[in-house]
Amino acid sequence: MKTILCIEDEREVLDNNRAALMWAGYAVLAAENLAQARKQLLHRSPDAIVLDIMLPDGNGLDFLRELRAAGNRIPVLMLTARGESASVAKGLRAGANDYLGKPFDYEVLLARVEALFRNVEQVPEALERGPLKLDIAAGRAFLNGVDMLLTQKEFSLLLLFVQDEGHVMSAEYLYKKSWGQPIGDDHRTLKKHMSNLRRKLEEGNSGYKITAARGEGYCFEKI
Ligand code: CA
Repeated sequence: MKTILCIEDEREVLDNNRAALMWAGYAVLAAENLAQARKQLLHRSPDAIVLDIMLPDGNGLDFLRELRAAGNRIPVLMLTARGESASVAKGLRAGANDYLGKPFDYEVLLARVEALFRNVEQVPEALERGPLKLDIAAGRAFLNGVDMLLTQKEFSLLLLFVQDEGHVMSAEYLYKKSWGQPIGDDHRTLKKHMSNLRRKLEEGNSGYKITAARGEGYCFEKI
C-alpha cells in the first residue's frame, strides 16, 4: 500500500483529500503545517506528498526546495489556490512533479496522484557508468562496488554530471540544482565540493574526470 503525506492547513480540504485518497486505497499521513510535515518525514517515508503552498508556518515551495536540495526525490503534487497562478511556474521549477488548482474534483486529484506514480516509476532507480553506480533512491554512489561515501551535495553534483556526460554545466546551474538557491557569491563552497568529488573519483580510478572550463563551468568526461 502506498502512503501519501498531505500537507494542508484547511481542515475541510485536508479531511476531504484524506477521505478520497483512503477510499482509493492509499494510506494517508496528515500535517497541518511545515513543522508537522518535517516531523512526519523524520519517522516515515511516504511515497508521495500532496503539498499546499500557503501554510501557517511558511511557504510550501520553500519546503519543496529544501527537500530537493537534500536530494529527496519524492513525487510532489502541489495544490495552488485561486490567484496563485504565479506559484505554478515557481513550484515546477522548485521540483514539483505536477500541480492542481483549488477547488478541484476528487476524481482529478486521484488521477493526478496515479499519474505521479506512473511518471515516477519510469525514473531509473540506479544509473551506471562503467565502474560507477549511483543508487538514486538511497543517494549513494559506488565505485567498483565500494561506497564512495559522498555527502548529499557531492552525490547531487555527481548525479547531474552522470546524467549529462560530456556537456559543460555552469557553476550557477550546478549550484542551483544542488543547493536549491542561486549561487550568489558562494563560488567557494561549490569549488570545495567539486574538489572533494574529483579527489574521490580519482582515488577510486573511476576512469572519469571533471574538467573546469574557466568562466564556463564544469564537464564530466571519460579520461
Ligand atoms: Ca493553505
